[in-house]
Amino acid sequence: MAKTVERCSFCGREKKEAGILISARNAHICDSCIQQAYSIIQETLGAEKRSSFKEQKLLKPIEIKNHLDAFVIGQEEAKRVISVAVYNHYKRIAHAQKAKADDVEIEKSNIVIIGETGTGKTLLARTIARMLNVPFCIADATALTEAGYVGEDVESILARLYQVADYDVAATERGIVFIDEIDKIARKGDNPSITRDVSGEGVQQALLKMLEGSIVNVPPQGGRKHPEQKMIQINTQNILFMTGGAFNGIEKKIANRLQTSRIGYKIDKKHDHIDKENLLQYISPVDLKAYGLIPELVGRMPIVTFMHTLDHQALRRILTEPKNALVKQYIKLFEIDNVQLTFDPEALDFIVDKSIEFKLGARGLRSILESIMMDPMFELPSKGAGKKLHITVPFVEEKFRKTNLSHLKVA
Ligand code: ADP
Repeated sequence: MAKTVERCSFCGREKKEAGILISARNAHICDSCIQQAYSIIQETLGAEKRSSFKEQKLLKPIEIKNHLDAFVIGQEEAKRVISVAVYNHYKRIAHAQKAKADDVEIEKSNIVIIGETGTGKTLLARTIARMLNVPFCIADATALTEAGYVGEDVESILARLYQVADYDVAATERGIVFIDEIDKIARKGDNPSITRDVSGEGVQQALLKMLEGSIVNVPPQGGRKHPEQKMIQINTQNILFMTGGAFNGIEKKIANRLQTSRIGYKIDKKHDHIDKENLLQYISPVDLKAYGLIPELVGRMPIVTFMHTLDHQALRRILTEPKNALVKQYIKLFEIDNVQLTFDPEALDFIVDKSIEFKLGARGLRSILESIMMDPMFELPSKGAGKKLHITVPFVEEKFRKTNLSHLKVA
């Protein structure tokens, strides 16, 4: 009886045509069919991965604020303003998808958050992005320069967002970008500069184009554009830009404005009182212009809000209350080694006091706790399970004394 020829059950090629034929009981597969099948699997997995940024149900401002409350302590005004802004932004996108040609076009509203470093600006932006399940990236305005100069192009921000979005253009175009230290690219002085200003006004102009919504050619791998690199086009129309900065000294501009407007207009008695200790609450886009941001850029960031300086009470809450609070993290870390960790409330107060004393803010809480917990973290895992560790004031004081304060740099 003639021997049956073994063929690939998928493409039908004979064994001698195919390089390799792998045989099962009743079927065979050749190497090229294996390769093809493998690339189908990769593509499918890739598509699934990309869809991890699927559009979500639009949350209402109160729901957004409730979510923020679980991660960001205090900063009530900023959380309210940003909840509304974010809601409007994504509502606008949803509306634009359904809108007819003659409909009112709702303009994009980018956001400026003013506040000292370490008050939670980045945390706010990041929490929003995570909640909305949109790609998010952080850029530092001080690293940016005009195209053609040494430094980062403004487009590199979009390249980073595109990478975070797993190279999914549609997801990138719904993302959030947080640009930190926007105040550092302010024009020095109120007058437009005569000489070219590579890192200040030039960058503001470059940012403006991106913020107002345009199609930007982006080098997909980041870095500098070069002619042989294939560019991808990203439309920034629906990307939400949040910018932040300390704007040191802006209180003076606010005070000046409030002073002149008081002279110029009659203010009724009820609103006459100005809280001079907290001038940031009166911040308005005009002050950003006075600070040195170009009017066009200010015009593209109409939502201006501010962060409070964190006082003892806020820092104390940050230690224990947020969903991923530091104290909760340490308890978890020790729990994994079967060690029950507890803190004296006064010991936590001590940590907060030191963070304030050394002007380390919220970021300092982690460095102080880290140095205090160093010895137990080193010793306890070897001492075995079932242990308890209670952190008291004397313990904290002793460990803190041993730490070299010069090591307590803001992380
Ligand atoms: P900023 O962007 O204003 O410089 P960050 O958002 O980077 O400050 O804050 C640094 C860290 O301090 C955060 O990762 C967070 O752990 C903590 N933090 C700061 N402000 C708050 C806050 N209001 N609520 C909770 N944690 C905060």
